Amino acid sequence: MRRRLRWLALMPLLAWGTGGTAEQTQPWLNTRLSADERADLLNRQLTLDERISLVHGIWARPDRDIRVPDDAIISAGYVPGIPRLGIPALYETDASLGITNPLRLRPGDGATALPASLALAATFSPELAYRSGEMLGNEARAKGFNVLLGPGLNLARDPRNGRNFEYLGEDPLLAGILAGENIRGVQSNHIIATIKHLALNDQETNRHWVNATIDPAALRESDLLAFEIGIETGHPGSVMCAYNLVNGSYACGNDFLLNQVLKKDWSYPGWVMSDWGAVYATDFAVKGLDQQSGEQADAKVWFGELLKQAVTSGSVPESRLRDMTRRILRSMFAAGLFEHPQQRTGAIDYAAHAQLVRDVAAQGIVLLRNQDHILPLTNAAKRILVVGGNADLGVLSGGGSSQVYEPNTDWRSAIRVGGEGRAGARRNMVFHSSPPLTAIRARASGAQVTFDDGRYPSAAAALARRADIVIVFAHQWMIENEDAPDMSLPQGQDALISTVAKANPHTVVVLETGGSVAMPWISQVAAVAEAWYPGTGGADAIADVLFGQVNPSGRLPVTFPASISQYPRPEIPGWARPEGEYFDAPHPEGALVGYRWLDRNNQQPLFPFGFGLSYTRFEYQNLEVSGGKTPSVTFKVTNVGDRAGADIPQVYLTSVNGSRTVRLIGFRRLELAPGESKRVQLSVDSRLLASFEEHSHRWQIRGGSYEVAVGSSALEHTLTGKAQLVARSLPP
Ligand code: BGC
Repeated sequence: MRRRLRWLALMPLLAWGTGGTAEQTQPWLNTRLSADERADLLNRQLTLDERISLVHGIWARPDRDIRVPDDAIISAGYVPGIPRLGIPALYETDASLGITNPLRLRPGDGATALPASLALAATFSPELAYRSGEMLGNEARAKGFNVLLGPGLNLARDPRNGRNFEYLGEDPLLAGILAGENIRGVQSNHIIATIKHLALNDQETNRHWVNATIDPAALRESDLLAFEIGIETGHPGSVMCAYNLVNGSYACGNDFLLNQVLKKDWSYPGWVMSDWGAVYATDFAVKGLDQQSGEQADAKVWFGELLKQAVTSGSVPESRLRDMTRRILRSMFAAGLFEHPQQRTGAIDYAAHAQLVRDVAAQGIVLLRNQDHILPLTNAAKRILVVGGNADLGVLSGGGSSQVYEPNTDWRSAIRVGGEGRAGARRNMVFHSSPPLTAIRARASGAQVTFDDGRYPSAAAALARRADIVIVFAHQWMIENEDAPDMSLPQGQDALISTVAKANPHTVVVLETGGSVAMPWISQVAAVAEAWYPGTGGADAIADVLFGQVNPSGRLPVTFPASISQYPRPEIPGWARPEGEYFDAPHPEGALVGYRWLDRNNQQPLFPFGFGLSYTRFEYQNLEVSGGKTPSVTFKVTNVGDRAGADIPQVYLTSVNGSRTVRLIGFRRLELAPGESKRVQLSVDSRLLASFEEHSHRWQIRGGSYEVAVGSSALEHTLTGKAQLVARSLPP
């Protein structure tokens, strides 16, 4: 049997050797060659017109003033192939949370909905990031796509950012590793993944006119480092540049970001595609942009006839156009698009995918408060009142291009929010069809479970007085292209929680929010669980945590500040400005994003980055730190409670030569049985200990004494150790 497999594996080589195959006339089909060699061979064959056709694409939607070609799929994007040379078309779909079906223009085509990427980040699990990506790639392929427009990893620099839920939190190491693993999972299906949005797309308010200003070295140490780690871990075929400007130039026409950093310093071999409506000139090609996407969203098809004229007249060098197409072809070869042609099979194991996303949701739920161990709920509670949050309908999802509709979505599970025009028509809160109320009832068989919609706090309070336990669901709906003005829960939900908790202190709050929110009622309630947007089956994940079938293990991937005044921009830059006016958004925090900024300013958050409770307890012991060139850290973790559970010990750099800092330099997710211990060993990425120095253009690691701590959040450090490091520098 084994011999036969080996023989089958040799077949393509023999076919190549015996001649008469397609590879002889089309040598780029020879799979023994590298993606680079194959791209070079094929790139030489392209005519000027063929090159131009590869570097721009449409927004493949009939509602976007275009007739979608017959062989395209209604979706985010389409770039025609070149049949003469066997070059496949690019069929592009959004994205990070599931395969989207914009405005349900493909009737009846639903998909598995992952929880918010923030929930994935809260798992701190590279494995779940990989498996989520694998699931996305699998569904993308079955639906006929070959490019996935995700993952996104703009660092969460502001809790009010309307797209934080699509990203992986505020820390470059965590976001970078999870994005990279996610990409590996996507691409294991021969689907090109797209890491986005490069860079500093950290607010949605007037996103086309905001100029994010930042010290370039600090940018390298933060958002760019997240991208760098994501790219080197996952090797995505494509990078999407952002809508905003960075230090004075549009991100998609930004020589520093695209040419200097991405392509030169990081030697990125893939292609840069624009965001939809982010291109303003043909010379963006010279600044590093390789492909104009969704071209109807721009004022002109800059990379069509206009680019052809520019190349013919020499204002854009022909070598540059060749490089653009070479990069696209190289990524097609690297992802296996020629050997595994796109095919719409529709074969998706939704049941298996539902189980996976439920696991992500469950492991991503963060238990923030649990006074007197009110959770997990026991069968002593005979009267349970569930309040608010549309808990009778489903679990909330975020809006915008990442909006996923599940298979068999019921139109009645969307609530119209309102707003004028085309944008207003899209403002619907979509609830995935797993109602928490049903999931709670299924687990509380001995109890009477009643529901109040929470519209009138006094009515809910009256019912709460007669209940043993009250579970209030509260949500914050976020959508692309909009930020929240502040950190409150909208529509009076803060007052609802407070009124209910006054009536009954046994109040448990479950949050479905797009990021961190304020909790003016925190001291009044007994427990709080942050469930983010928990996706398909999210209600079961929530109920499993509430009733103890799952021991909560999520940890915050973002700081929950005590108030927005602790953050660098008390008001969102450009807030209430008319569209079309350019303005600066200064980033004085530089690389000190989130917990690092609070630490620098001696501010206490409501809940720190990395924080999360469990139904068991963990202890850390025996820290050893070794120095030299690259430090490595080992320690022991023990589950000292009486339940099995997962812990996520975190390692922070806390001082360099006596001067204080705080920075996540390692983490590990571990499952531990009661009484069980495991030893953790982590080696530290040197860039996390370094500063980027502009004038030498290198990462500089100072020699001397480095103090590290092991703890359960950015604030709680139980073990500390020191290592001596030798001074050295590294290329960018
Ligand atoms: C978003 C991208 C998305 C693209 C295509 C844009 O509005 O910013 O993240 O991939 O649309 O739908």
